[in-house]
Amino acid sequence: MFADLHLHTFFSDGTFSPEEVVAHGKQLGFACLALTDHDTVEGCDRMAAACATEHIEFIPGSELTAEFGDHELHILGYGFDTKHPHLLSELAKFQSVRQNRIREMVARINELGTPLNVDEVFALANCRAPGRPHVARALVKAGLCASLDEAFELFLKKHRPAWVPKAKMSALEAITLIHEAGGLAVMAHPGLNRCDEVIPELVKAGLDGIEVYHTKHTNNTAAHYLNITKQYGLLVTGGSDCHGLSKGKPLIGGIKLPIHYVHKLQQALAKRRETSNTK
Ligand code: AMP
Ligand code: ZN
Ligand code: FE
Ligand code: FE
Repeated sequence: MFADLHLHTFFSDGTFSPEEVVAHGKQLGFACLALTDHDTVEGCDRMAAACATEHIEFIPGSELTAEFGDHELHILGYGFDTKHPHLLSELAKFQSVRQNRIREMVARINELGTPLNVDEVFALANCRAPGRPHVARALVKAGLCASLDEAFELFLKKHRPAWVPKAKMSALEAITLIHEAGGLAVMAHPGLNRCDEVIPELVKAGLDGIEVYHTKHTNNTAAHYLNITKQYGLLVTGGSDCHGLSKGKPLIGGIKLPIHYVHKLQQALAKRRETSNTK
């Protein structure tokens, strides 16, 4: 019995519908899936329905872009109330940040002499939480870049000419917001952000867990973060971070989180809900 707790759909920068993600999960034999689209929970109702049909346990979630000092980090929220007003108003704020950033990035690409039409980017993205992958896909679709990699290399990677920094909530605010909505806050793919020094501060702020298992973590990286979870008594999570097809095949299936970690997570969630109900 396994889980994948890090998945994206076309409600952010993934390409699959919630139903397609669940179909893949079913075929691979997953017992539990979580949806973690960037800065939105819009796909959760559809994903919950599709999981119910397939008898797969579903955990609603979202991946929030946050900052701590100079570091960008991603905080995964799990099991919160997806209709929580403050959660939704904060998400809406960061969705509009994302939309404005797309306009700014395309303006820079245009200034560099590449005639990308911003309306085509929004039409292709067709969601409230667009991101750099949509700009890259639009560049390829318009024949202005040969590949997504080329689009990132030429324009979109950090510090490349069309890269625009994104206004983010602080990691501490993200943790508080997730808790307020009844959820658990987990540090996503720490092996990609490499800022272990912030972990003690995040733990003090209430961080609940660390994503130990991730497509881009080596075995050594996972072992390192597993140790850190033991040191601080944190939950262990893992997921593929599947965004659709990657080089012809989906990443879902590459990470199989043993279900006992999900049981721990469910226990922690029940406890969180108990305490928020008594407040
Ligand atoms: P954004 O949230 O707009 O900053 O975009 C971040 C997303 O872009 C990540 O979740 C990845 O899916 C994707 N991404 C980031 N860097 C690259 C890269 N070098 N090549 C391809 N995709 C990337
Ligand atoms: Zn993404
Ligand atoms: Fe991420
Ligand atoms: Fe992700």
